[in-house]
Amino acid sequence: QAKASGREGRGRFDPDLHARQLIRHEMAWALPRALERGELFVEYQPMVRAHDGELYGVEALARWQHPQHGLVGPAQFIPVAEDTGMIDKVGRFVLRTACAQAGTWKTRHPGRELVMSVNIAPAQTDDPALAILVAGLLAQHGIDPAMLQLEVTETRMMPATGPALDTLRALARLGVRIAIDDFGTGYANLGNLRSLPIHHVKLARQFVSAPIGELADQVDCVLIAAVVGLARSLGLGVIAEGVESEAQAATLRRLGCDVIQGYLYGRPQSPAAIDARLGTSAERPHAGWAEGS
Ligand code: C2E
Ligand code: MG
Ligand code: MG
Ligand code: MG
Repeated sequence: QAKASGREGRGRFDPDLHARQLIRHEMAWALPRALERGELFVEYQPMVRAHDGELYGVEALARWQHPQHGLVGPAQFIPVAEDTGMIDKVGRFVLRTACAQAGTWKTRHPGRELVMSVNIAPAQTDDPALAILVAGLLAQHGIDPAMLQLEVTETRMMPATGPALDTLRALARLGVRIAIDDFGTGYANLGNLRSLPIHHVKLARQFVSAPIGELADQVDCVLIAAVVGLARSLGLGVIAEGVESEAQAATLRRLGCDVIQGYLYGRPQSPAAIDARLGTSAERPHAGWAEGS
């Protein structure tokens, strides 16, 4: 089916595709300058402990304030960065920014432990220098290694050998936590899981967002329970992301998820908004005030 439509489409002028290609091309050209000009920045999305609703940590998410196109999301520019070899620089920028922020929060809110979770692109784990960079940043900002979590994608772990695995092992030796992002979207490597130096899995959003937006569907619950069971038996923690409703959160808590992340507990937001939140204790859902509204 897809093949047939692909064949039909070939050679025809697709204005949408053309526009997308132009934008990609322009982005590839503009990205190196964007870094130099400070157009890239990082937002932080709250992650909340399932059992008591306390803030567990934040996920650092890259953004690009483009002078013409406005706010560009990472789903658009990270793939371009990966294709053009810019991902190393972009990734280093995010890591540096997030670690500096973690250091600031540590001094500003003493005694308030906060996990900083940073997405790592496949090309970054292929580079053994990543562990050296991370070790330097931990020392520079006085961060407890256990408070830094790196999110890698499942597909990257396919061969349980090679440079990516060496890098992960070096990071784990530093005491940094490794999480598998979007877990459950690629099933090829369950057998490898036990040999990987990982601490958490992040349940893919697809599991959480049933068609009607709740988890009433038995099948979804069974799938989540299976993934949680698997993670548990391997001694891994489970983080659920993309949680938008109280009903979803309640179901995920019941099914044994440890940490919950999603619009219910806050969108990705500025460091100042997180600061405001750190000034208070128990987290409550619908924290719209954290957005500055
Ligand atoms: P991800 O790592 O799985 O991050 C979660 C994404 O889900 C974020 O999108 C977040 O804003 C969104 N999200 C969180 N809660 C909800 C919710 O309740 N409902 C819905 N519909 N969405 C929610 P975002 O910020 O657009 O990032 C997209 C992806 O881009 C990320 O997915 C990650 O794979 C990648 N990315 C972001 N920042 C970086 C980075 O610094 N480096 C790398 N390599 N990738 C990054
Ligand atoms: Mg992530
Ligand atoms: Mg991801
Ligand atoms: Mg994810």
